[in-house]
Amino acid sequence: MVDFNKPCIVGKEYEYIADSIREAHISGDGKYSKLCHSLLEKELGVKRVLTTPSCSHALEMTALLLDIKPGDEVIIPDFTFVSTVNAFVLRGATPVFIDIRPDTLNMDETRLEELITEKTRAIVPVHYAGIACEMDTIMSIANRHGIPVVEDNAHGLFGKYKNRWLGTIGCMATQSFHETKNFTCGEGGAILINDPALIEKAEIIREKGTNRSRFFRGQVDKYTWVSVGSSYLLSDILAGFLYAQLEVWQEIQAKRKWIWQTYHSELAAWAKSKGVVTPSVPEGIDPSWHIYYLLLPDLEQRQAMITHLKDAGVNSVFHYLPLHLSEKGREYGGKPGDMPVTESVSDRLVRLPLYYDMGELEMEQVLNAVTSF
Ligand SMILES: *Cc1c(COP(=O)(O)O)cnc(C)c1O
Repeated sequence: MVDFNKPCIVGKEYEYIADSIREAHISGDGKYSKLCHSLLEKELGVKRVLTTPSCSHALEMTALLLDIKPGDEVIIPDFTFVSTVNAFVLRGATPVFIDIRPDTLNMDETRLEELITEKTRAIVPVHYAGIACEMDTIMSIANRHGIPVVEDNAHGLFGKYKNRWLGTIGCMATQSFHETKNFTCGEGGAILINDPALIEKAEIIREKGTNRSRFFRGQVDKYTWVSVGSSYLLSDILAGFLYAQLEVWQEIQAKRKWIWQTYHSELAAWAKSKGVVTPSVPEGIDPSWHIYYLLLPDLEQRQAMITHLKDAGVNSVFHYLPLHLSEKGREYGGKPGDMPVTESVSDRLVRLPLYYDMGELEMEQVLNAVTSF
């Protein structure tokens, strides 16, 4: 069987884990955490990067940083992972779901302004599959209303929007290093802070609500509880694993790009003949090559494709169910038909295997399996 995903080992993971243990600093913010922070700050030009135990935790930090309170509204795409919405619901916010564009499967920016009310406290675009949202429009609407934008960039690390790195456009962004993502340490994440006014507050929230970071910098002579917070640090053992991948990020991305582009060119004619839609990348956008998907004409054909691929030894998977129709999402009044694009895409989408260790034989098996459908 060709797996849908395999976490990759690219080289120095074991060496750095062993070194982190020898350094005798295996809790957060040790040698490898700092290396991850500075690598991402330098490569992306972000003011402050802090590793977290997951992207879900990083999203929770953004909700705390924005002082999200009961009754606040947060605009979130209907087609995303539950963590995007949970982070804000945990603070008592009401999610306001927005439908997606049929081409990029990202937040439909033409519907954004009509959803803004005097209670809107954040807009959370998700760069689905690592293809950027229409950020110029989203930022100009957000800025006009004075609403902060948090990029859920779980898919998009090292993708670009008009020559700007994804994750550097909103006031904050979040990354995932879960084993299903391009770069991994099993479970892990990061918060990217672009607004300097949020940096110190982020350090405090992440260190259990204490000013420990200032203490370590010698700015105060003892550290104490200064505000609400939690423990949002990544163990340095995991940071060692992650650093081994981040230091060769170009190599990982180049391989994924090759697989993605091979699928795209090899499947173009077949897709056209079958009425299957493949990903579209608007002008000026560089994807992060996170997901390669197909949109089948309907649910029946999508299910048939998954079964057909399985019979040919290929594991493929569908993706998000519409949040507004989920058991929890219905509490906010969601009904079938409210989000027609998400509802349709959710029924029709299938993701093909895409991971760093994929060889030519496996790719050929996938391509033969798909085109014999
Ligand atoms: C994977 C993912 C998350 C959650 O990441 P974790 O690191 O597993 O918490 C959040 N948002 C999106 C869009 C994701 O794909």
